Amino acid sequence: MSASLQDSFGRDINYLRLSLTDRCDLRCIYCMAENMTFLPKKDLLSLEELDHMCAQFIRRGIKKIRLTGGEPLVRRDFMTLIKALSRHLKTGELHELTLTTNGTQLARFAAPLKAAGVERINVSLDSLNRDVFKKLTRRDALDQVLGGLDAAKQAGLKVKINTVALKDMNIAELPSMMEWAHGQGFDMTLIEVMPMGDIDEDRRDQYMPLTVIYDELAACYSLMDDAHRTGGPARYVKVKETGGRLGMITPLTNNFCAGCNRIRVTCTGRIYMCLGQDDYVDLRAALRGPKPKEDLDAAVNRALRKKPEKHNFEISENRSGPAVGRHMSLTGG
Ligand code: SAM
Ligand code: SF4
Repeated sequence: MSASLQDSFGRDINYLRLSLTDRCDLRCIYCMAENMTFLPKKDLLSLEELDHMCAQFIRRGIKKIRLTGGEPLVRRDFMTLIKALSRHLKTGELHELTLTTNGTQLARFAAPLKAAGVERINVSLDSLNRDVFKKLTRRDALDQVLGGLDAAKQAGLKVKINTVALKDMNIAELPSMMEWAHGQGFDMTLIEVMPMGDIDEDRRDQYMPLTVIYDELAACYSLMDDAHRTGGPARYVKVKETGGRLGMITPLTNNFCAGCNRIRVTCTGRIYMCLGQDDYVDLRAALRGPKPKEDLDAAVNRALRKKPEKHNFEISENRSGPAVGRHMSLTGG
């Protein structure tokens, strides 16, 4: 048995985020440019290679895997990987298999996901207004997403709605979205926009600190501290009036790196130690070489030693360009 995963700051790493593809059927304005250059398909690890890699991570103590992207549900045959990974849920070595999705394909996949052992999912939704949704995602797909959410509910999946707070776009709508989400039985988490990748817009026109949103919500609702944790960076409050839970992910206004328990691997096998830094270790050669087990262990150990203490995201008067060159769609949120 290899040593468990711990970085040089003593943080235990037990959470893997795996991006299945950098492609997507939406084009959210804060995530991508309209005309994105995607990775050549030939560079992607096969589903078998991803499965093999996950097994090695689970052997090293990874307990939770989140599939993300791009849009994970547009990767052809992704259910094959889900079904394969679910064997680790049955043995108890893996505690949770989950995913983050934009919801457009959920009507088709919600029931098979639940049947394969997925219990809860995050669905990203930034507006319930059809025109705003279209402007934000550059696609007219709100009804498709709402249909997907219905299917998720029917299938018995627990849903958390992720909403990026975007200045001049969805801020006024956030209270009614929260009431809607809680009314549906969904948790909701608000996220600050992060300066990742070149997009067609100025980040300063998008960024809204969640400290401001919190104060606005606190003026209208009773927000009670909630000890709930999902192993992620969100801090939660319980909303007395709705009975629901609201999370806040604040990479810019309140750094949460001290509790970081995760690593991120792209669909080409690059392990990124931090969302906010460009440094990576390539696992592909190890995976395809003659001694995959030993070489993967060595590459992962190398990555852990390089994991930085914290990101250095900033959006301010003086700094609006990307902190890292790659888009969020390469590593997933
Ligand atoms: N396509 C899936 C989705 O949208 O849920 C999964 C991948 S997406 C990159 C994961 C999450 O990252 C989404 O909740 C999205 O809103 C968020 N995201 C993308 N770009 C971001 C950025 N620059 N800052 C903050 N969140 C971002
Ligand atoms: Fe696609 Fe998700 Fe990025 Fe939106 S946030 S463009 S849905 S990958």
